[in-house]
Amino acid sequence: MQMTIGREVAEKLDNEDVLSSYRSQFFMPPGKTRSEQLYFTGNSLGLQPRAVKDYIQQELDDWQKLGVEGHFHSKNPWFGYHHFFDKEAKIVGAKPEEVVVMNNLTVNLHLLLASFYRPTNSRYKIIMEGGAFPSDMYVIESQVKHHGYDYQDAVIEIEPREGEHALRTEDIVAKIKEVGDECALVFFSGVQYYTGQAFDIKRLTEVAHSVGAFAGFDCAHAAGNIEMQLHDWEVDFAAWCTYKYLNSSPGGVSGIFVHEKHGNNPETPRFAGWWGHKESERFQMKKGYIPEPGAAGWQLSNAPVLAMAAHKASLDMFDEVGMPALAAKGKKLNSFMEEVVLDAQNVNEKLEFEIITPEERGCQLSMLTNKNGKALFDYLTLNDVIADWREPNVIRLAPVPMYNSFMDVWEFGDLLSKF
Ligand SMILES: *Cc1c(COP(=O)(O)O)cnc(C)c1O
Repeated sequence: MQMTIGREVAEKLDNEDVLSSYRSQFFMPPGKTRSEQLYFTGNSLGLQPRAVKDYIQQELDDWQKLGVEGHFHSKNPWFGYHHFFDKEAKIVGAKPEEVVVMNNLTVNLHLLLASFYRPTNSRYKIIMEGGAFPSDMYVIESQVKHHGYDYQDAVIEIEPREGEHALRTEDIVAKIKEVGDECALVFFSGVQYYTGQAFDIKRLTEVAHSVGAFAGFDCAHAAGNIEMQLHDWEVDFAAWCTYKYLNSSPGGVSGIFVHEKHGNNPETPRFAGWWGHKESERFQMKKGYIPEPGAAGWQLSNAPVLAMAAHKASLDMFDEVGMPALAAKGKKLNSFMEEVVLDAQNVNEKLEFEIITPEERGCQLSMLTNKNGKALFDYLTLNDVIADWREPNVIRLAPVPMYNSFMDVWEFGDLLSKF
């Protein structure tokens, strides 16, 4: 059976979409059954912007021609390469000094916890979401062990209520208040990778502070997806990768946020390296660490220029579009996705699934499937849909505002209805 939502609805939405021209600035992977795949995994690995090659080529050319002199005399001098990323701050709603691009995400989480998880015998507990992304679980597990605490005792994971999939803010708040002055850190994702739930970062931060705890967020699935105001919300720290919604190459660099109240305090403890040292004296090779003010003072190593060049290409595009327009389109696309898959389910009785993504969301939709979920996923794959299967039975879809069209979403629904 045909869906009740017709193709012309998607056509109209695409015509009205002010961001529709950005699709042509990306390489859309070719399909076998259609010219371009229906790519819905921009939350896992964003597609390659066409401009990336030129940005990287520039650095390769300068390296070729200048060698070490490129640190100061290349077009984009490598010595201060991280300064080209001031725009990163706009992605997360921060002041430029509060953000720096460096390392990879998990590494950065450990570095930030060196500053923001400093347990004492009376205050050592961490409150986090149950079912967090594995790397985050391992980070927290190894951190509490490193400090000599027992995981079961020191880490409190909050689970959804019976029969529910998302966490209720009121339940998280109640738990933080209950743990009270034993709570050292409230650590959540910005957007949950499995359910697509966007957490109430502002409220969780407020409540964490009310019991004297720090609040930190892994924004891997939030950066480039939802609008955030990390500065105004007084979040203590955050980190994110740039290869998901930010399209900045596989394993690409990570961004960190340190609120200025900590970043501008040279006494904030941290692990140090030469690249975070006061920039004007960095090459004096003297003893005694003097941190650069702001997040820059958390840098350890000199910039991985090639990976950062890829990020620079993408970031220039994000800066042009701006998060408000992107987030607005992302929500709209995702609502359309929900309408379309529910429509397909209505007309095709073989489709049995439940949407587990709550209303507080960005542009990801998670479908909890029944026993033929894997068969459905395989059918989609055969038909050039790139979605994401998560054990035991969830299909994650991310229609991303930068390059997905309403027609991509409709075509997906059309395929579903014909399963
Ligand atoms: C993608 C993701 C990671 C990945 O970490 P890397 O260090 O970049 O490999 C970590 N945490 C979360 C929440 C993620 O979504």
